Amino acid sequence: MIDPTSDIGEDVDESDAPTCHTCGKKIVMEPEHRVVSWIEDDAVEHLHFCDDECHEGWSGRRPGR
Ligand SMILES: [Zn+2]
Repeated sequence: MIDPTSDIGEDVDESDAPTCHTCGKKIVMEPEHRVVSWIEDDAVEHLHFCDDECHEGWSGRRPGR
């Protein structure tokens, strides 16, 4: 018996995938994926990072206020 729904697992459309803010890589199945969100002008902003290294690269260079 063949179950047509049991394919490779998650069907993630690449065009819907977020990209890493630091290196620009598509984040499709990254286990180390980080998301940072904050409120700016009453809207929620999100940034995606493929791993801790990219996240720290961004937060280290972020201009402080
Ligand atoms: Zn990255």
